[in-house]
Amino acid sequence: MGEFELIRRYFLPVSEAGQHPAVLLGPGDDCAIQRVGEGQDLVFSVDTLVEGVHFPEHYSPEKLGWRSLAVAASDLAAMGADPVCFTLALTLPQADPDWLANFSSGLSSASRSFGLNLAGGDITRGPLALTLQVHGTVPVDSAIRRSGAKPGDLICVSGTLGNAAAALALLDLEFPTTEQVELLEHYHAPQPQLLLGRALRGSASAAIDVSDGLVADLTHLLGASGVAGAIDVGCLPLSGALAAQREDAINLALYGGDDYQLCVTIADTALKALPDAIRKQLTAVGRVRTGAGLVVDGGSAQAQPGGYDHFGSE
Ligand code: ADP
Ligand code: MG
Repeated sequence: MGEFELIRRYFLPVSEAGQHPAVLLGPGDDCAIQRVGEGQDLVFSVDTLVEGVHFPEHYSPEKLGWRSLAVAASDLAAMGADPVCFTLALTLPQADPDWLANFSSGLSSASRSFGLNLAGGDITRGPLALTLQVHGTVPVDSAIRRSGAKPGDLICVSGTLGNAAAALALLDLEFPTTEQVELLEHYHAPQPQLLLGRALRGSASAAIDVSDGLVADLTHLLGASGVAGAIDVGCLPLSGALAAQREDAINLALYGGDDYQLCVTIADTALKALPDAIRKQLTAVGRVRTGAGLVVDGGSAQAQPGGYDHFGSE
């Protein structure tokens, strides 16, 4: 049973059992949405990072501080939400003051940079794991959901793809080259696209953040919208560093995770109407169609390796 089948079978019934009218959007998107008052909707999401699964053992605590909040904040970006605050549940094997000082420093930098205020948490002893809940807001009914893509919309991505996946092979290098350092930065210090997400509110028809790989995440968006899509690999945005270092750059851009860029769908007219500075951050890579499934350069994408699934091999 895969991760998503597990959620569908055991947790969607729980979600449906306790339906509250203020919960506008439950499981299935990057964040949930709660109506909290007249003017604003609360947008929130929780993410767990486990040592040895989501980050390597003996990983730099300062980088972990940044990365853990960046990864969580990326789901707010995908909804077009304005960041507000977060809580942190930390499970630690021991209270090492050096480790904690460095972790705190990385977390503080991220907190300042993203405008997310630490508002509470929990500390327990056990194998190293972190759970972060992030809260954001949007004006009522303006969150960008996964489900709004329409046939004919362009499929666009922000930034460049595949860098973080290429960095995985470089994590243990003692003396990386300048180009390798550039790729490593994408893994260690992802930049959640909060300003871009916010700027696309009211313009993008659907959005998702690319955490598990473009093919996997775009497939989720298309499924939630009940549409099909086609992408042209010649249009995929690749960094110079990736193109120079990896012959399989295209595959990494299609299937590699950890980029935390946005994948959005948007009508041509809405894209043209965006301010230049926003439009320039997006690259059109394909189009939404009627039907179901994702086609990559004319072939079905399902036959290729998918994104990360924690229970996929069980
Ligand atoms: P993301 O990569 O955007 O963080 P996930 O792939 O982790 O999203 O989760 C997909 C969807 O499944 C989300 O809407 C999430 O809230 C929901 N989900 C995951 N685990 C559970 C659970 N145990 N109970 C209810 N919903 C869940
Ligand atoms: Mg997400």
